[in-house]
Amino acid sequence: MELRLVLGDQLNAGHSWFRTPDPAVCYLMAELRQETDYCRHHRQKVLAFLATMRAFAAALGKAGHRVCYLTLDESARWPDLPSLLEAQLALHQASSFAWQSPDEWRLASQLKSWAASLAIPTTEVESEHFLTPRDGWQRYPHSRMEFFYRTLRKQYQVLLDEDGNPLGGRWNFDDENRAKLPERQPIPAPLLFANEVQDIDAMVTRHGVKTLGSADASKLPWPIIRRQSRDLLEHFLTHCLPHFGRYQDALSERGWSLFHSRLSFSLNSKMLHPLEVIRAAQSHWQTNQDTITLAQVEGFIRQILGWREFVRALYWEKMPDYKQTNFLEANRPLPGFFWSGETRMACVRHAINQSLEHGYAHHIQRLMVTGNFALLAGIDPDQVDEWYLGIYVDAIEWVELPNTRGMSQFADGGLMGSRPYVSSGAYLERMGHYCKGCHYQVKARSGEGSCPFNSLYWHFLWRNRDKLGRNPRLALPYANWDGQPEPQQQAILASAEHHLIHLEQL
Ligand code: FAD
Ligand code: SF4
Repeated sequence: MELRLVLGDQLNAGHSWFRTPDPAVCYLMAELRQETDYCRHHRQKVLAFLATMRAFAAALGKAGHRVCYLTLDESARWPDLPSLLEAQLALHQASSFAWQSPDEWRLASQLKSWAASLAIPTTEVESEHFLTPRDGWQRYPHSRMEFFYRTLRKQYQVLLDEDGNPLGGRWNFDDENRAKLPERQPIPAPLLFANEVQDIDAMVTRHGVKTLGSADASKLPWPIIRRQSRDLLEHFLTHCLPHFGRYQDALSERGWSLFHSRLSFSLNSKMLHPLEVIRAAQSHWQTNQDTITLAQVEGFIRQILGWREFVRALYWEKMPDYKQTNFLEANRPLPGFFWSGETRMACVRHAINQSLEHGYAHHIQRLMVTGNFALLAGIDPDQVDEWYLGIYVDAIEWVELPNTRGMSQFADGGLMGSRPYVSSGAYLERMGHYCKGCHYQVKARSGEGSCPFNSLYWHFLWRNRDKLGRNPRLALPYANWDGQPEPQQQAILASAEHHLIHLEQL
């Protein structure tokens, strides 16, 4: 008998393992304290992963596969994955062991070193989910995401004409993806499910698993089976794709997901395959070109075919050292309001409170609100990572780390992005509607009541000049700073220093 391990984010029903039931194979799935506890997760994230795992195991069993599923109650007797596996190999009298390559470095190295000590034959197989191999960084042009993405567009024949050129004559419609949401633009209501997971919730409480954020276990809104994930995809294509690209960068208090797909949990748990999502978007656009422009669908596909594969390639190329990077030597502690949402900065308050409530924020909230603030304030990237890894339902290290440490905090010195994603309040005012109702004044650069993003922005550039001063993409901001009269510069720096000393009170 072969024992095959299926991890909680390997719920890929299309994997070749599951093509035909084999009585000589047993699939092992286990809810593990090492996974619920390696960081403090959002409660909805814990519930969603456990519920999805249980549903997947039940579906495997129904399809005729032999499955051994251990709940937290049953797995609690073993301190970690290796000891549980050893016991299960003996119990099932397994003569061989197989596992799918984990996406996280932590689990990959744990399993590899444990399997190397076994006396029985072992096999590591692909998870058959990604569109590029783990060593994609070496195989594809990677100096910028754009070149990586173009190569994949050609390889997978996505949005190309018959001659292999990009449809519309351009690879990228990014410049059409920066509109502010008009006040009267209707926003589609997010499709929410009402999965009953009270039994899992009670078990999580019984075991004393520490979580953050809120959850209503009588109606968990995240998809936990493939059919729900497909429904979410259909909902996105019909209601959100027509405006996805246009309002991709928009910020608004009027909604918590705007025109975004909320498909990241379904993708990262592998209920959905990225190519399935890309092909569905392309074909939906093809038959609805009267209402959906090419810029909308290209903007969406770029996120999955481009960014998602790119960050994974970067992660596997640079780990484990990537986790230690801190190019800007940032070292301030993360303010307590990241965990409570209690701040007078309206934009930050909205992003944090909705993250605590829904376990979700869209990309621009993560990058240009919370991430921007943490970068400007010089917060220790370890603490920023811990927050992002815990709070989002879709957060798994392979995708969270390059986005947080690289794209958002510039801790990798420029592998993910060619310049730090920082902005003053002016950008947030342009892209959102928060400033009117904020305690702070977005037009004020310094002094009492001035928007903290303003003075912190200039302070960030000023204090990091030795590291960033020669970056050509920052030439304009540095010229702007140099052109300001000295008393104005001094007032700005003094305000920033004040904010930095009183971060907790902002
Ligand atoms: P949509 O806007 O609808 O995009 C569609 C899909 O594209 C997403 O579901 C996702 O699979 C993919 N995608 C979009 N942007 C990225 C990106 N930058 N990197 C990788 N895939 C992308 N994404 C995660 O899946 N897990 C994380 O833990 C995570 N942490 C992040 C932390 C920070 C600081 C930042 C700036 C971004 C992070 N992202 C993460 C990327 C992105 O913000 C989320 O994928 C996205 O917000 C998920 O919402 P959605 O499904 O509605 O995305
Ligand atoms: Fe955010 Fe500043 Fe606008 Fe307040 S004034 S909402 S802190 S950008």
